[in-house]
Amino acid sequence: MSETRLREEICRFGASLHQRGLTAGSSGNISVRTDDGWLLTPTNSSLGSLDPARLSKMDWNGTLLAGDPPSKEAFLHRAMYDERSGAGAIVHLHSTHSAAVSCMSGLDHHSCIPPLTPYFVMKIGQLPLVPYHRPGDPNLGDAIRGLAAKHSAVLLANHGPVVSGKTLESAVYAIEELEETAKLFLLLQGHNPRVLTEAQIAELKTVFKL
Ligand SMILES: [Zn+2]
Repeated sequence: MSETRLREEICRFGASLHQRGLTAGSSGNISVRTDDGWLLTPTNSSLGSLDPARLSKMDWNGTLLAGDPPSKEAFLHRAMYDERSGAGAIVHLHSTHSAAVSCMSGLDHHSCIPPLTPYFVMKIGQLPLVPYHRPGDPNLGDAIRGLAAKHSAVLLANHGPVVSGKTLESAVYAIEELEETAKLFLLLQGHNPRVLTEAQIAELKTVFKL
């Protein structure tokens, strides 16, 4: 896909996420890998009103090549790309239900949300928790690096999810599936849900080549 088209896609998906209440204010950021670097949404920008020409164009040394200054959360994306050579795009949101789960005590740090539905298993799989770090703490990047090689999605404690995909469309669909499953997880608190068994998860992995 050409860079022009990728820029338009970032703005189109950003507006869609914003219109549906998945990001508020200037929170959330989107990035895509290009032939010669990567594109990221600018700092203090709303995903609802992005300008394709003003997106931050970065090289892999962290230099801003063109556009507005990048999101202060650029390092979250960079940490994920460093460990996932097949990732073409990354979406990070403070979406309500996922952020709510990220604030819960007693989470299984290896798997914050149980395998409630096959779609969650197929699009997200196992979702580890990244311990709390203050905004901008560079140690957060290292904490993500430690998990990203094995996980396409991670949940930042008291913050929100970071989800990668081969394409921007697949990353957006995956983070939407995560948000919906987080909502189910919260609705099911105290209801003793039946989660998918190991055998049912193994069947999904075989049939859908996960
Ligand atoms: Zn954030």
